[in-house]
Amino acid sequence: MDIKRAFNLPICLCLIVEQEKLSHIMDNKKQSLIYLAAASHSGSTMLAMLLGAHPDLCSVGELKAGHLGDKNSYLCSCKSLLEECEFWRGVSEKMASRGQSFCIFDAGTDIRSNASPYVLFLLKPLVRRRSVEWMRDVLLNISPSWRKQLARLQRRNADYVRAVAEQAGADAVVDSSKTGIRLKYLLKNKDLDIKVVWLVRDGRGVSLAYKNPSEYADAKDPEFRGGGAEKTQEQGRNVAAGAHEWLRCNQETEAVLATMTEDKWLKVHYEDLCDNTESELNRIFEFIGVNPGKKRMDFKAVEHHVLGNGMRFDSSSLITLDDRWKTELTQVELNEFAQAAGGYNESVGYSSNERRL
Ligand SMILES: [Zn+2]
Repeated sequence: MDIKRAFNLPICLCLIVEQEKLSHIMDNKKQSLIYLAAASHSGSTMLAMLLGAHPDLCSVGELKAGHLGDKNSYLCSCKSLLEECEFWRGVSEKMASRGQSFCIFDAGTDIRSNASPYVLFLLKPLVRRRSVEWMRDVLLNISPSWRKQLARLQRRNADYVRAVAEQAGADAVVDSSKTGIRLKYLLKNKDLDIKVVWLVRDGRGVSLAYKNPSEYADAKDPEFRGGGAEKTQEQGRNVAAGAHEWLRCNQETEAVLATMTEDKWLKVHYEDLCDNTESELNRIFEFIGVNPGKKRMDFKAVEHHVLGNGMRFDSSSLITLDDRWKTELTQVELNEFAQAAGGYNESVGYSSNERRL
């Protein structure tokens, strides 16, 4: 027998066994996910892009990937047609290697994907206190289709987060899906290690954005509004309705955070992020566990493949506080806001004495 071959064979076998052990350990290791929880129009697109510019993190927008609009015109933030973007092709390939057929226009990662009318009805109310959530889960678990669907969704979301991290070469992925109900179920995902950044903005600023989203909460260039696609624009709503939406979204986030340990979530104010960007980013990166020294203040210059709000197309990395509510909300509207959500606005740190300039 060839002595050399006789010795090489066991070495090769050992290497194969070690490699299999290693890939088993890698698959079993929880994937880090940073979840941005916020009401709409609170600055989550800006924060997601600031975080995603860190070399150890990746942000692609909302991983729940709602309706994106027309395939033939929807643009990735790299300004390629989404269908033609190499990054997203790579993500689809990595999903396929995990046995998941995947197309970003029909991602199937939303908690409501393929849900029956019964399940949709139960998923509709925002997250509330523990006893109510216990009842929701009892009623959902009666449905065999929900039990199967939830297991499939958890697996698909974990595979998706891993595929994005792998494609970007990042340690952690930022999910700016914002909603509390998605977060509630992701926290039960055994393959994900989740930290939450709760982004809060003065409710009066958010209410102004709700009043006219394309004017106050979209790309500066009208060509890129609504995702750069022929897509229905978000409808405006009056200040009282916007205030109520803002209030309920933040209360929902608080209900989910109450189920977590305090080291797993961090509250950030949009206004602090705009006024003291570097120090706030340092605080967030320390919380996430990545080196703050690697942050990029020229965050728009970094390669991004973000979907969602048109602000992702704005080219300037200059951050300025948007407090147009101080001059553009009328006294009547300010009173409407105060009546709907003034007390809560104060409880999260905003003075009601600040009147129009
Ligand atoms: Zn792209």
